[in-house]
Amino acid sequence: MTLQNVFPWILRAQQEGWAVGAFNANTMEQVQAIVLAAQAEAAPAIIQISHRALTHIGSGNEILGIKYIAAVGKIAAESVTAPVALHLDHGTESEVIQAIALGFTSVMFDGDGLPFEENISITKRLCDMAHSVGVCMEAEVGEVPKPDGKEFDEAAIELTQPDEAAQFVKATGIDTLAVALGSVHGLKSKTVSLDLERLQAIRKQVSIPLVLHGSSGVSDNDIKQGVSMGLSKVNVATQLAQAFTGAVREVLNKDGGLVDPRKYMSAGRNAQMEVVRERIRFIGASGKAK
Ligand SMILES: [Zn+2]
Repeated sequence: MTLQNVFPWILRAQQEGWAVGAFNANTMEQVQAIVLAAQAEAAPAIIQISHRALTHIGSGNEILGIKYIAAVGKIAAESVTAPVALHLDHGTESEVIQAIALGFTSVMFDGDGLPFEENISITKRLCDMAHSVGVCMEAEVGEVPKPDGKEFDEAAIELTQPDEAAQFVKATGIDTLAVALGSVHGLKSKTVSLDLERLQAIRKQVSIPLVLHGSSGVSDNDIKQGVSMGLSKVNVATQLAQAFTGAVREVLNKDGGLVDPRKYMSAGRNAQMEVVRERIRFIGASGKAK
């Protein structure tokens, strides 16, 4: 299929109590792992590209990164019959504009650090632009921390305030809202629980589908509960990177003389595909694209 806007599936997921998975990719093999898993599970899926992935893919040039991944994502989506979206994760204003222009079907603007009113006005402008060409728009209220391997101050986590969330959604017209419930980006083990009472309070005031960032660090029990309560898009990144890199490391450790990149990159791709499939089943998306 051509790249899709999978918002209709996210809405259906919200109504039925499951979630669409959004899976991060930094390389072509990781993109392939995602679409192959979606196909094997007959599930809608989202190829998700972060700001830092764009820098990597474009060798330091983010716009070149957007062009590369838009081309790779398009071909990957067309290689399967499952519905697949290409999503920009945590984009800046200019990256969101470029991603919309170059064929992404879903974008997230990260107004982290902006005053609330300014975040609203930029998000609204980008949202109108996205909707004019049928692209799904996500934004965030509160902040899921991005410690990037460094220590962070748990007390400083800005959890989403339900009334601010409601005001933001009403003022911007976004399709999905990322909420901060205690999860953290980049954690390597499932040590965090979610503030499910806060989720319930947000749910009372916000009717659009909600997005969980940082799911790799959240206990599976809380993810399951959260999905049933309206977290209808679940982002997975670190768990995939762990699977990919773990498999590559194993192949290289076994054969110190190995030089052919195909040997270890295909092992990484297979390992990531299995984890994407497991996550798709876990969040209840398996078979939903039949
Ligand atoms: Zn995120």
